Amino acid sequence: MPKYARLKGTQDILPVEQPYWEHLRMRVAEIARAYGFERIDTPIFELTELFNRGVGDATDIVEKEMYAFKDRGGNEIALRPEFTAGVMRAYIENGMQVLPKPVKLYSIGPIFRHEQPQAGRYRQFHQFNAEILGVQDPLADLEIMLLAWDIYDSLGFQSLAFQVHSTGCPICRPQYVSLLAEHYRAHADAICDDCKRRVAVNPLRVLDCKQPQCQPIIAGAPKMLEHLCGECAAHFTKLRGYLEHLGKPHTINPRLVRGLDYYTKTVFEVWAEGIGAQAAVCGGGRYDGLIELLGGHPTPGVGFAAGMERAVMVMQAQHIAVPPLPAPLVFIAFLGDATARHAAQLLRALRQAGLGAQIAMGGSLRSQLRQADKSAARFTLIVGEDEIAQDVVTLRDMATGEQETAPLNGVAQTIVERLG
Ligand code: ATP
Ligand code: MG
Repeated sequence: MPKYARLKGTQDILPVEQPYWEHLRMRVAEIARAYGFERIDTPIFELTELFNRGVGDATDIVEKEMYAFKDRGGNEIALRPEFTAGVMRAYIENGMQVLPKPVKLYSIGPIFRHEQPQAGRYRQFHQFNAEILGVQDPLADLEIMLLAWDIYDSLGFQSLAFQVHSTGCPICRPQYVSLLAEHYRAHADAICDDCKRRVAVNPLRVLDCKQPQCQPIIAGAPKMLEHLCGECAAHFTKLRGYLEHLGKPHTINPRLVRGLDYYTKTVFEVWAEGIGAQAAVCGGGRYDGLIELLGGHPTPGVGFAAGMERAVMVMQAQHIAVPPLPAPLVFIAFLGDATARHAAQLLRALRQAGLGAQIAMGGSLRSQLRQADKSAARFTLIVGEDEIAQDVVTLRDMATGEQETAPLNGVAQTIVERLG
């Protein structure tokens, strides 16, 4: 056993896994930019209070999952358990409210939640996240949903599906919530302990309870969609109309409520095959009340957060090929200590000429050539004493096995020519 092991729920992303991550990050950035989203990076920690308000005191995230602690200065801070609250704080604090609407932002980075670890569920994980601020029209909901969809689609994900629902707004939701709570109180002896608590603090959350005993109660519960106000119903109908027009299959999921209090109207998830029980790769929705709640001018918003570990799991489960990360083009091997400085000089010349190169760090020529093979370099340069005396080096094309003698001072040029 090594003396130190990684903490439960954390992972090392080793070099062999990196091609998946790099490919995913590239796709996210490419597509987000092509759709008019700009990147924003916010701190990994914020005042705990921001998340208490922005995520919601009565959510699992705040109640049970947040890494919150007092720092050495006595401030109550927390590692971010999601992006949105921090991005909204930055939007308000940096005066972005005066920017022409919509403001479209995306982020990529680590997220922290103290959860029970299992496949696809970790304590430190990564998300890509996107937000559209300042637009009330369901066209913004559509755009945010399409961004998520098109990222997965461009990665080659099979069997994608949208799950959609509406959780209403401060006008229609309270009435529905009291109907729901009434239904639950009538079945108080049949529901799980968590739901007993939820009914008191955050009744909507009973709808996504996974306990078997609660399933029949959920099935018999009143439906939010039957209690939407006119505006929310019209918003939902319009969004569904857009999706149908674009031929995007979607399932209405009356249990989709999200764990976060600030969601209004649209909620959605993207599901993909290949991750077993953790079927959601992405979740999002509208949060028209959030910016005002955090002290900004009332501003509508819609966004999503997508788990990157789950996306990588899908890529692997669905056998999606990802491009290998490029290795340095040239590997320099050398024979004998006296040639080391010539080899180092050559390394520098190649790099200055813009060619990726690395050098062997000692060992027999044989082991250096083995390293060259493993490095996936296209060319190997062999620097020997006899050659140096004649101002030449040996150039081996690793793809064809052909070997030639090249002038020491013109190697970069020769390599460029051989590349065509
Ligand atoms: P779940 O129901 O799976 O707990 P959630 O509702 O907590 O998800 P969000 O807060 O909306 O999820 O986060 C968005 C996405 O982030 C999820 O769809 C999932 O892909 C990913 N995600 C959430 N929690 C974790 C975790 N602990 N480990 C890895 N990925 C996660
Ligand atoms: Mg969760």
